[in-house]
Amino acid sequence: MHDFLDEIRSRLDAIRAEGLWKTEAVIASPQGPRVLVEGREVLNLCANNYLGLADHPALRQAAAQAMEERGLGLASVRFICGTQDLHKALEARVAQYLGLDDAILFAAAFDANGALFEPLLTDQDAVVSDALNHASIIDGIRLSKARRLRFATGDMDDLERQLRAAREGGARNILIATDGVFSMDGFFADLATIRDLADRYGALLMVDDCHATGFVGEKGRGTPSRAGVRADIVTGTFGKALGGALGGFVAGPQPVIDLLRQRGRPYLFSNALPPAIVGAALAALDLVEGFEGDERRAQLDTNTRRWRRGLQSMGFELLPGEHPIVPVMLHDARLAQEMARRLLDHGVLATGFFYPVVPQGKARIRTQMNAALTLPDLDQALQAFRQAGRETGVVI
Ligand SMILES: *Cc1c(COP(=O)(O)O)cnc(C)c1O
Repeated sequence: MHDFLDEIRSRLDAIRAEGLWKTEAVIASPQGPRVLVEGREVLNLCANNYLGLADHPALRQAAAQAMEERGLGLASVRFICGTQDLHKALEARVAQYLGLDDAILFAAAFDANGALFEPLLTDQDAVVSDALNHASIIDGIRLSKARRLRFATGDMDDLERQLRAAREGGARNILIATDGVFSMDGFFADLATIRDLADRYGALLMVDDCHATGFVGEKGRGTPSRAGVRADIVTGTFGKALGGALGGFVAGPQPVIDLLRQRGRPYLFSNALPPAIVGAALAALDLVEGFEGDERRAQLDTNTRRWRRGLQSMGFELLPGEHPIVPVMLHDARLAQEMARRLLDHGVLATGFFYPVVPQGKARIRTQMNAALTLPDLDQALQAFRQAGRETGVVI
């Protein structure tokens, strides 16, 4: 036991020595465009709070009312005695919003992706997965007995090669799995081409739309809507644009949802979502489908374009794109940490990302826009980037 802990300590030392140690900023306020960190109010440029709903009065009110009327929690998994009318309402609401048959709730999108593949696919089937897919998709696929094929991220020729290999290998059913948006880069999957290949090879298409639901596409219906195509199965989260609390879902064809309710392990062996979370998610969907949703999406878009333009004009290296994820490339992990530290000194919270969440040599500060940031906020944040960038020699 003693040796084992020493071994762990030396692995921790190695992580520190490589400059890969992650620390956590402690926030003493609600999540929002400005947060309280180390006793100071700072601008926050790294939450997935795309629509600024994490502290929205209508969602807080809906959460409070649901807790008042339905209690703190269910103390049960769904099938034993943990299903309330609110859960049924939210599942129907998600399915209707996304234009799919039905939906099933999970404690998190991580669990939704963890639940999906194992019951759906047998050893006679194949899953073809983008190499950059979220960790929860990778883990979910590992749990299934299906043949696994990977395609280089965004490489449609490689996707076709893998689909052909799956067909030639005699797969009965093929499922293509992709993120709608790749969260480290803000790149969109090429869903138009992927849909076309899925149809040509008789495959189903699964899209994880965690970084899109609520704000991408018409009424925020996500990346399939933006690309003008249909996804067969969509997984998503209530922990990002749709209020930022917790909870995930799978939406799709009725037999898929029915099977997950019977056989999905994170569904069968884990507690039901609490009423407050479910009530807030229902309110979030009402909001994003309404006029306020349109306004917030328009503001998010304006902020994203202004932010990109500002950083670019100062000479920062960005990854190209349109998504509110705007990565500022620094390449070196220590430099990313130093930049983040100085940004905080200048009043901006923006976390450095480095190995293992991005490849070695691709360290960055992943900035994210949200609809609650004002234009003066953005100007102030740009000034902080200029100062921190000069101090670290990243820009002149
Ligand atoms: C955030 C994220 C998840 C996990 O969502 P949670 O609801 O927080 O578990 C899954 N997939 C992708 C692509 C994500 O970005």
